[in-house]
Amino acid sequence: MKSVIMLFFITFLIMMQSCIHDSIIYNRNIAYDNSQIPDCNPQELGPQMIRIPGFEIAWQIVPDCFHFSRKKTAIALSIFYHHWVVKFHDPHQRVFHALNNILIEWSHAEKYIHGYTEDGVLRDNGRALGLTLTPTIVWIKIPNTPQVCKTGLIHELVHVALLANNQCGDADHEGNQYYGWSRDHTEFIDNDNMLLCGLDI
Ligand SMILES: [Zn+2]
Repeated sequence: MKSVIMLFFITFLIMMQSCIHDSIIYNRNIAYDNSQIPDCNPQELGPQMIRIPGFEIAWQIVPDCFHFSRKKTAIALSIFYHHWVVKFHDPHQRVFHALNNILIEWSHAEKYIHGYTEDGVLRDNGRALGLTLTPTIVWIKIPNTPQVCKTGLIHELVHVALLANNQCGDADHEGNQYYGWSRDHTEFIDNDNMLLCGLDI
């Protein structure tokens, strides 16, 4: 009898823990269902800040509703993270955390900056395709063909991931001034963008 009571008690404890576990998952601030969060409003003029589904506090700013649907951005972020884990790993989930807090601003503005090419050459007044402004805020220039794969998003996400891991985003890419970025990262970007283009994203 004692062992039956003990067994019941253990089963009850396990069930209780799994219930607690479930409630933690469902209480997280992740929008799994698009209908829970407002989408871009075509009636509104000017830029709108739209929540990206599937991530905790991820947002994008779009100039209008014709560019970069939140679904395509969400898929691009998911593909990026999946491939990042396979290739570079994320043992402390720092990259995961950064992506869950990302703010992406899509913009038609032209910006000219003092910055480095992918092979590490310093250029004055270079036309920016993207900028990593803080560890979780990126600015992305909208190209003539408005597909995510034609933008600098994946490139900037590599800076975000390096910043999350090293506190250094490696501004000169494959150059020797800063550390973190290797030829593997440049290839990673090319492959990811090729896949996104193939998916019409
Ligand atoms: Zn860069």
